[in-house]
Amino acid sequence: MIDNWPLYLLVVAAVASGWWLGRRQPRKPSQSAGLDHYAGLNYLLNEEPDRAVARFIQDLKVNPDTLDTHLALGNLLRRRGDVEKAVVVHENILKYPVFEQDVIHQVQLELARDYLLAGLLDRAEKLLLELCQLRGAVRVDSLVLIIELYEREKDWQKAIMAGERLAVGDETEKYERAISHYYCELAMSHKAGKNIEAARLALRDGIGHDAKNPRTSLVLAELEIQEQRFPEAFKVLQRIKDQDPAYVPESLPLLRLVSERGGASVAQVQAYLEQCLLLVPSISIVLALAQRIREVSGDEAMSKFIANHLKRNPTIRGLTQLIDLHMDNTQGVAKQNLSILRSFAEALVANKPVYRCHECGFEGKKLHWHCPICKRWGSIHAIFGLEGE
Ligand SMILES: [Zn+2]
Repeated sequence: MIDNWPLYLLVVAAVASGWWLGRRQPRKPSQSAGLDHYAGLNYLLNEEPDRAVARFIQDLKVNPDTLDTHLALGNLLRRRGDVEKAVVVHENILKYPVFEQDVIHQVQLELARDYLLAGLLDRAEKLLLELCQLRGAVRVDSLVLIIELYEREKDWQKAIMAGERLAVGDETEKYERAISHYYCELAMSHKAGKNIEAARLALRDGIGHDAKNPRTSLVLAELEIQEQRFPEAFKVLQRIKDQDPAYVPESLPLLRLVSERGGASVAQVQAYLEQCLLLVPSISIVLALAQRIREVSGDEAMSKFIANHLKRNPTIRGLTQLIDLHMDNTQGVAKQNLSILRSFAEALVANKPVYRCHECGFEGKKLHWHCPICKRWGSIHAIFGLEGE
């Protein structure tokens, strides 16, 4: 019953409406609206919401006075996850030809939301394509919904076309970034299908829509690597520093590969990473540089380099690396104590998220280019600070 309290309130509202309308309108001999509404309430009290909703629809006739109550019920059912019943309520409203066009469009929009949530994508698309042709708020709302639909279907070409219609005014940056990611998605699928030329063209368009999208560089570098063009891959990866240095840590495995295959000298990679470190205090970049220092100057120099960075930007991952270095050069009880300290440090970050969305705060261990909660593109990056980068 506790879960049903909003439904309970609506049925109570329906009882009240029935009573009020009954007072306003002359009662027909067969009509017993008040009693019927009480029957609906009884269904609810007896934990039978299905029958309560059916009764509600049957008894509270749709008209301009009751429209808000019907819409509220439909939306409430959708929020509760009762999508099929929400569809019934919204479709029922449309059976009554008593409303202005703008009201009908609003109800159709709600119905499209129901279809989308129910996975009835064909029906949702058909309805939304009609609503997209209109003017005003309903056009924008239906384009936003149809983009959600195309994203779900991974129909990136259609998502691009809908996104271009929304990339105006204050929303330009948001949708240009989304379009850039749609092109990255297209490029990824072309790359998987070994259609390298199409993938390159898609990435070129992706850069055209958002030159600051670091994903375009990551995907293009993968293409160059696939084509054995390692110097070109190094050139492309270096763009990330200017696009968004917070994503440089994501490029480190590719940088390592490119360097190993002769695309860049160790000194070139080192110089690039030192520049990046001035822009972003990433422990992953510090550890990549530290590895190079170890190869050239040994453990002590590496240890000093990490310790210096940790003084300015302490992180548990950096501390763990430092402990490892000391453990390699320590024996007996001291080594055992360091091992305990290491386990403790590891436990501190074991279940911590690595990435966070700066729009909605969603956190996870994996980088999503598309936030699963707020649905923004390119809003998630590594968490910086003591427990993160
Ligand atoms: Zn988000």
